[in-house]
Amino acid sequence: MQTSLISAVLNTPAGREADAILRSCVHCGFCTATCPTYQLLGDELDGPRGRIYLIKQMLEGRPVTRETQVHLDRCLSCRACETTCPSGVRYGRLADIGRGIAERQIHRPWTERVYRRLLRAVIPHAARFGTLLRIGQALRPVLPTALRAKVPARQETGAWPAPRHARRMLVLAGCAQSSATPKTNAAATRVLDRLGISLLVAPTAGCCGALSQHLNAEDEALDFMRRNIDAWWPYIEAGSEAIVMTASGCGVLVKDYGALLQHDPHYAAKAARVSALTRDLAEVLAGEYLAGLRVSANKRRIAFHAPCTLQHGQQLPGVVEDLLTKLGFELTEVRDDHLCCGSAGSYSLLQPELARQLRDGKLDTLQAGKPELIATANVGCQLHLATGSDVPVLHWIELLDCED
Ligand code: SF4
Ligand code: SF4
Repeated sequence: MQTSLISAVLNTPAGREADAILRSCVHCGFCTATCPTYQLLGDELDGPRGRIYLIKQMLEGRPVTRETQVHLDRCLSCRACETTCPSGVRYGRLADIGRGIAERQIHRPWTERVYRRLLRAVIPHAARFGTLLRIGQALRPVLPTALRAKVPARQETGAWPAPRHARRMLVLAGCAQSSATPKTNAAATRVLDRLGISLLVAPTAGCCGALSQHLNAEDEALDFMRRNIDAWWPYIEAGSEAIVMTASGCGVLVKDYGALLQHDPHYAAKAARVSALTRDLAEVLAGEYLAGLRVSANKRRIAFHAPCTLQHGQQLPGVVEDLLTKLGFELTEVRDDHLCCGSAGSYSLLQPELARQLRDGKLDTLQAGKPELIATANVGCQLHLATGSDVPVLHWIELLDCED
C-alpha cells in the first residue's frame, strides 16, 4: 500500500513504525473473513482492512471524525486478522498507534471519558480492585440475578508451598486475577513445586500495563512496565530462570516490553531481557518432564477455549490442548476456535452488547460437545465466559492441581 504520511507523524518513531506496517498491507482483504466484528456488523469499516484505511487517512492528515474513533473502539484487538494475513501485517501494533493518535485528536463524550478514567483508576490497582470485589462478593446473595452473574464467587486458594527448590521462576500476580481468580497462581505454584520449580512473586510488581494500553493511556502503561522491570530485576540477577505468565493477556504484553521500551535509554536493555525470559505457563510445562504429575480422575471431558492473546497474540496455538491431551484429558471439538469470546481486556465493559453476542456465540460452540467443564488460559476470558456458561469455567492449570 502506498502511503504519504504527514511529516509530523513521520518524525516520530511510532509514526515511522506505522508507515512501515501500512506499506506491508496489500489490501487483499483475506483478514476480513476472520474478523469477529466484521462477522457481527457486516461493515467493511468494522473489519481490519477498513480500520487500516481509517488509520492511514488519519496519519495522512485527513479530517478525523468521531466516526473513525467508534470503528476503532469496536476492534477487539484480538489479532485474528494477524494470524490470517499472508503479508505479516502487524495490525495490533498499528491499531495501538492509530488509537493513541485518535484519542489525542478526537474529543470523547464526557461520560465515556469519566468511565474510562474510572476503569483505569480501579482495575490495574490490585488493592482497590480487591476491596471493591470483596464488597461485591459480600452483597452477592442480595444482588439482582444479572448483576450477580458478573461478580465472581470467592475462591479458596489452598496452601501455597514455600520456595524450596534451587530452580526458581518468577510469576506475575497481576491485578484483577490476584483477587478474582487467586486459585490460578496457587495451583500453578503447587504444580510447578511438584516438578521441582519454586515460583516467586515480586511483591512490588503489579498490573502488566495492558488495561492502560487498551484504553490508549500509553504513558501510564509504560510506567507500569518500568515498575515491573524494577521489581523483577533483582530476582533475574539472582538467577530466576523465567517469568511465568498464568494469564495470556498479560503474557502477550510482557513479551512486548522489549519492543515498547526500545527507545527508552534507561530501560531498553532490561525490557528486552524481561521479554526474552517471559513464558506462558503452558510453554514452561511443555518443556518439563511431566510423568510424575497426577491429574484428577474426575471432570475429564473438557472444552478448551484458546484465548486470542495465546493463539494470535503469542502465536501459541495448540500448546495447552497438546498438554491436556498428553495428560489424558478428552478435549471436545470446538468450531470456529479462532474467534474471540468478547472479553478482550476492558472490551466487555466498554462494548457490552457486542461482547455479549460474541460470548453467547462462543459458549454455543464450546458447549456443543457436552463438556463437563470449560478450561481457558486467561482470567478475562474465564470471568466473561462464566457469566453465561452452563458448566464451570476454570483455568486449565487447576485440572493438574491434584493430590490424589
Ligand atoms: S492486513 Fe493482510 S490480509 Fe488484511 S488486507 Fe492487509 S495484507 Fe490483506
Ligand atoms: S484485531 Fe480482531 S476485531 Fe480487530 S480488526 Fe483484527 S480481527 Fe477484527
